[in-house]
Amino acid sequence: MTITFLGTGTSQGVPVIACNCEVCTSADLRDKRLRTSILVEGYGQVIVIDSGPDFRHQMLRANVQRLDAILFTHEHKDHIAGLDDIRAFNYKQQGPIDVYAELRVQKALKREFHYIFDDFKYPGIPQLNLHTIGLAPFAIGELKFIPIEVMHYLLPVLGFRINDFTYITDAKSVSGIEKEKIKGSKILVINALQKQSHISHFTLDEAIAFAEEMGAQKTYFTHISHRLGTHNAVSALLPANIELAYDGLKLEI
Ligand SMILES: [Zn+2]
Ligand SMILES: [Zn+2]
Repeated sequence: MTITFLGTGTSQGVPVIACNCEVCTSADLRDKRLRTSILVEGYGQVIVIDSGPDFRHQMLRANVQRLDAILFTHEHKDHIAGLDDIRAFNYKQQGPIDVYAELRVQKALKREFHYIFDDFKYPGIPQLNLHTIGLAPFAIGELKFIPIEVMHYLLPVLGFRINDFTYITDAKSVSGIEKEKIKGSKILVINALQKQSHISHFTLDEAIAFAEEMGAQKTYFTHISHRLGTHNAVSALLPANIELAYDGLKLEI
């Protein structure tokens, strides 16, 4: 299985529009972060987790030739805004894309992209097949997913464990039951927004503590704000088995 980080930035991305801070003006390509998403390829499947506002650019940049499914973690705009651009895959594959989301998230998709679900279907609109997920494990072909519920302040958000790989984007707290599902993962991806405290995201220190508690061999941080610092500067502060993810990073698992 191959994981590609399509985006590792928080909701505004990095650089932030009109920001001239050290991070936003950094020449290091690892400080250019599109909105958070990963590509999962394996067992004959090509799957994206979240299609944020940069989805089109991410598909072009990673040269994705086929898409079987999109999984949504939650309905915030930085995770769903790019859904309209599945049209290219509808056209090329001559069929709908499978979309896996909780009912609450589906309700938001129907509100935000009402034209996709209208009775009268205007020619050329995105085509998708909705699949309802919850906390029960599910499979897409041979690829098995264990949903993990984390709390993004008051909003429940899904993370996913795929074999020994666990991906969580927007956590502020995780219950003991859900932590048990994560334990034993060899690779963990978790959000680390910034050093300052935040109502709905792990800070750098909280993410490090969580990574150490989960005990994965390797942990990568994502959903990163320009306020966290440059990739170089922050990397120097991290324990040996924790790294900042960056756009384009590939993991073979
Ligand atoms: Zn900035
Ligand atoms: Zn987010």
